[in-house]
Amino acid sequence: MSRALPPIRAITFDLDDTLWEIGPVIRAAEARSELFLRRHFPAMAQRLPAGEVRRRMNVLAARRPELAHHVTALRMTVLAEAAQDAGVPVRAAELAFAEFIQARNAVTPFPDAVPVLRALGERFALASITNGNVDVTMTGLAELFRLHVSAESAGMAKPNPAIFHHTCAALDVAPEETLHIGDDPECDVVGARAAGLRALWFNRPGHRWPGPGQVPIHVRQLTELLARLLPATGG
Ligand SMILES: [Mg+2]
Repeated sequence: MSRALPPIRAITFDLDDTLWEIGPVIRAAEARSELFLRRHFPAMAQRLPAGEVRRRMNVLAARRPELAHHVTALRMTVLAEAAQDAGVPVRAAELAFAEFIQARNAVTPFPDAVPVLRALGERFALASITNGNVDVTMTGLAELFRLHVSAESAGMAKPNPAIFHHTCAALDVAPEETLHIGDDPECDVVGARAAGLRALWFNRPGHRWPGPGQVPIHVRQLTELLARLLPATGG
């Protein structure tokens, strides 16, 4: 006979592509940073055609694994090196990054995100766990969570079980009392399971589960979480 699971006391949420769509936001942020450089530091812009910053970030992350999950440091390092190569002040890199991050934080939560988080927050301790560099205070969702954990602040990234354990400890809940919800099969589902949490796959596009392991419980819309996690009242 299998052991009954304890009740869920906390829910941890991935952010990018779970509470908002991130692809268009990053593309807009990079375009804004590139436009700024073309206007104000053309010598530097010439060295960074479209997609070049991302390519150099990937190369740098492969060369320096300790930076792999520090997306801010990766982008700043690439921009600063390009400024130096172009013979412009490093201030140009700082300004270009400021343009990027302002647009990167301009996310539009899915329409059901706020009501769903509000309802779940009445019953569960909520935390966010992200490998990205969004400033949650800029999203309008910050106060709906008890805690925000980022790979940059924690010094470790999903799917490392340690980031899940760190979050559970900070919420004062056991991993098996915690449900993690996210879109990335490896980072969110496999990682959370390996840390002893329960996992729910936010599968908005309706993909097939790529594995490994058992097909997780999945939802395509955040509102489905309410019926799954909040028992019907009355009766
Ligand atoms: Mg995600």
